[in-house]
Amino acid sequence: MPFILSEYHSPGLSVNWTANKVLFHKQSDFQEVAIVELEEMGRALVLDGYVQVTVEDEFVYNEMITHVPLFTHPKPEKVLIIGGGDGGSAREAAKHPSVTQVDLCEIDPMVIEACREHLPEMSVSYNHPKVNVITKDGVKFIKDHPNTYDVIIIDSSDPIGPAVDLFGKDFYSNVHKALKEDGIFACQSESLFYHQDLIKDVHEMLKGLFPIARLYTATTPTYPGFLWAYSMGSKKYDPFDRMDVKKPEIEARYYNHDIYKGCFALPTFIKETLGLK
Ligand code: SAM
Repeated sequence: MPFILSEYHSPGLSVNWTANKVLFHKQSDFQEVAIVELEEMGRALVLDGYVQVTVEDEFVYNEMITHVPLFTHPKPEKVLIIGGGDGGSAREAAKHPSVTQVDLCEIDPMVIEACREHLPEMSVSYNHPKVNVITKDGVKFIKDHPNTYDVIIIDSSDPIGPAVDLFGKDFYSNVHKALKEDGIFACQSESLFYHQDLIKDVHEMLKGLFPIARLYTATTPTYPGFLWAYSMGSKKYDPFDRMDVKKPEIEARYYNHDIYKGCFALPTFIKETLGLK
């Protein structure tokens, strides 16, 4: 029997999804975990009532959060993903020929269990020989791995529940320490229209830690406001110096070299928000 899944974002904004079926629904130690079949976007992971990822447009988000930082680094080998329990970003990272190890640190084993069963398009990565699934709090894990990774990706839920600390200054400083001397960091930083304060805060924190801080965007229909922001901090490599560098071909549906070149172009209102204009 179809029902309405209503996502509350603010007093002025709710998103109503028509859902056809609930495939999984349990309370974990961290959050309410569900897999729901949406009329418009197919199967979706829903945490605490918020749609995280859908089978119809996950490729946009997962390709952009991984390929942009990984292609900014000339030879990424060790990659850490914090969050990302659906497996989609690990699937993309494992495609890079130079990458030898992808550590996926997801806090909630129930997310892994639900996605293994119902989202095989993404969770296929759990069985990839390069991918090492770790069920721990990323905030704690990062502290024990100084100077270890070439690229660290924070594929987190919104800054509520267990993900709150993944947007904090101490955490970012530990991420900086866990990167090698030429390492790169990338995270999702929410909606260009609705979360400008957060985007600015993240950008300022990155500017305080890394010599190079960049923002890039992609359009993802599942997320409110559609135009989604990704923040990047880099110890050495600047994407603007890497635009014309030839990169290995990768099988992707959204990402390509023209997208790499274009995704750092920012609308004027966001340049103003970041003080770039
Ligand atoms: N693509 C989604 C989006 O932008 O909304 C996010 C993907 S979702 C799979 C994010 C994952 O981060 C969740 O499974 C959640 O359990 C995990 N997570 C939240 N806080 C975490 C933490 N402190 N350490 C590790 N994983 C965490």
